[in-house]
Amino acid sequence: MGKVIMVMIDGLRYDTACMQMGYLNHLVEKNLAARFLVKTELPTVSRPLYEVLLTGTAPHVSGITSNDIIRLSEQKSIFHLAKEKGLKTAAAAYFFISELYNHVPYDIIEDREQRDENSAIQYGKFYFDDSYPDSHLMIDGEILRRRYDPDFLLIHPMGMDYVGHLFGPDSKEYRKQAIELDRWFAWLAPGWMENNYHIVITSDHGMNNDGLHQGISPDERHVPLFTISSAFKPGFYSEEVPQLAIAPMVCKLLKLELTEEMSTFNILS
Ligand SMILES: [Zn+2]
Repeated sequence: MGKVIMVMIDGLRYDTACMQMGYLNHLVEKNLAARFLVKTELPTVSRPLYEVLLTGTAPHVSGITSNDIIRLSEQKSIFHLAKEKGLKTAAAAYFFISELYNHVPYDIIEDREQRDENSAIQYGKFYFDDSYPDSHLMIDGEILRRRYDPDFLLIHPMGMDYVGHLFGPDSKEYRKQAIELDRWFAWLAPGWMENNYHIVITSDHGMNNDGLHQGISPDERHVPLFTISSAFKPGFYSEEVPQLAIAPMVCKLLKLELTEEMSTFNILS
């Protein structure tokens, strides 16, 4: 049975990932990983695109068309599908993820740490401050991995989005945030690889030069997908992959059946 660690980096542009993340690109260069160019769904905003990545449904299907639609998802997420098969699920993520798949509205005391085998996300650490440090979040994810040995683990850092809004993407601060994340991967990923995880690293949306996102520009729509897994042919791929292909790909890695709504676009080799 393959286990999957999915890292959903909020607000990371494709070009920034290609230029700043030396460790991840090193793995691609040495035929240990693949890098794809993903075109996101629209609008390029978080909550709708979390649904795209975690349920494989576009906003017009999910009904989660903006960050202001605050309710549980009506779709079957990867968490639900995995739990139904008896797999263990976990997430270190922003509170929107708890609101979509576990509890709504988010309660900062009750929902900050969750452990309930009946929930879609069985083991969760959900932060609510956009400035929550990526360093702490990466460790939250690693704690969940070591403590509960989940089959599907979502790790969701917010720093790129936060810094992008403050300083814009063409800034020392935004590039530094990508470098810091890459350092965390350099530290954590070798252990994940040794333990035979399929590692999937992507982003929900990019960021335009005003430090905003909602629109259709390549700055907002182009995000990276790195896969460190024997299920992919290693290398750099420049053709656009639709973001809707990612959820079904993760389901296949976990040997889960796809929902009827999911795309059949295949990026596995
Ligand atoms: Zn944002």
